[in-house]
Amino acid sequence: SRRGLLSGSAGVAAVSLAGCSAGEDSVQLSGFTGIAMPATDSDRWVIEGEVMEQLLKDKGYQTVLEYAENNADDQIAQIQSMVDQGAEFLIIGAVDNTSLGQVLLQAKNQGVYIIAYDRLILETPDVDYYASFDNNQVGVLQAEHIIKKLDLENQDGPFNIELFSGSLTDSNSEYFFQGGLDTLERYIYEDKIRILSGQTEQDVTATKDWNGVVAMDRMTELLETYYEDDPLHAVLSPYDGISRGIVAALKEGGYNPGADDFPIVTGQDAEARSVRAIKEGNGQTQTVFKDTRDLADIAVSMVEAIVAGRTPEVNDLGTYENGFKHVPAYLLEPVNVDASNYVEILIDSEYLTAEEIDNAE
Ligand code: BGC
Repeated sequence: SRRGLLSGSAGVAAVSLAGCSAGEDSVQLSGFTGIAMPATDSDRWVIEGEVMEQLLKDKGYQTVLEYAENNADDQIAQIQSMVDQGAEFLIIGAVDNTSLGQVLLQAKNQGVYIIAYDRLILETPDVDYYASFDNNQVGVLQAEHIIKKLDLENQDGPFNIELFSGSLTDSNSEYFFQGGLDTLERYIYEDKIRILSGQTEQDVTATKDWNGVVAMDRMTELLETYYEDDPLHAVLSPYDGISRGIVAALKEGGYNPGADDFPIVTGQDAEARSVRAIKEGNGQTQTVFKDTRDLADIAVSMVEAIVAGRTPEVNDLGTYENGFKHVPAYLLEPVNVDASNYVEILIDSEYLTAEEIDNAE
């Protein structure tokens, strides 16, 4: 059985979607699938690229796997080439959510099925399915960690917080950020939380390409501009690579990661280096684990269903609007990870080994 099925939403599974399933008169599909992933700089895409290839190969389907290294034009060329090679399915983790309309239109004209993978593809009708996580909940979990660590239920503060968000070309960024901000809003309103920079908009808090060095530079500037005299208590960070950049800036700015007053820093993806910091109390204190093996499995099941002439199972029809339509989605649950549960969640499930965590650099 699948872990993380959203409770209460399973009932909408297997709805029939006209035009999305292989019809009676459709040609026999071989299952040839092109997998277009955004980058190798984040471990998760590497793990799931391999998992998807293996699962598809096990079914006897041909595959081609490409990484665009955050270059939107390169990704378009890779997708075009997959279509030219005869791919019948595209599983796409988009670099730029609004740049794929043209290439997907061409793919659609050739009868290709398109699955948006993890990140929603916007402003095109040519997306058949979406396989992802409850992205809003990712931000909620990050904010709840800050609330718990600062004990905002019982403490008046005020505590100083700064906010970071992800790439503006990734539709997930907005869901993460909004989930976090909505959860913190009450405490901002009560003046238990202050954001001394006043930077609460997505465009000013964004981190180009989800890049840790970009985040480090912004954190350094925030410290120099707003925190010469006031302490910083926490940073809402959307992703482990960004979190490590923030932590590096904090260390350079004079905060001691062993000390009680080191700012609380959140994260996402359970990258080994970040989990090591969580374990050793040497940086960020939280990450959000999304079991990408399960997501890979969902995407492959969608392909398999269509090849077999069935309609893929989904559990969400109303959340993800892409400018043209609500894209039928299968969403998995993200999981909060901190020092208290990383062994159970990450090691016991064999996502990471203890050695990978201890040796992570
Ligand atoms: C993914 C995150 C990841 C980020 C950077 C997002 O679209 O959902 O898991 O941390 O991209 O790669």
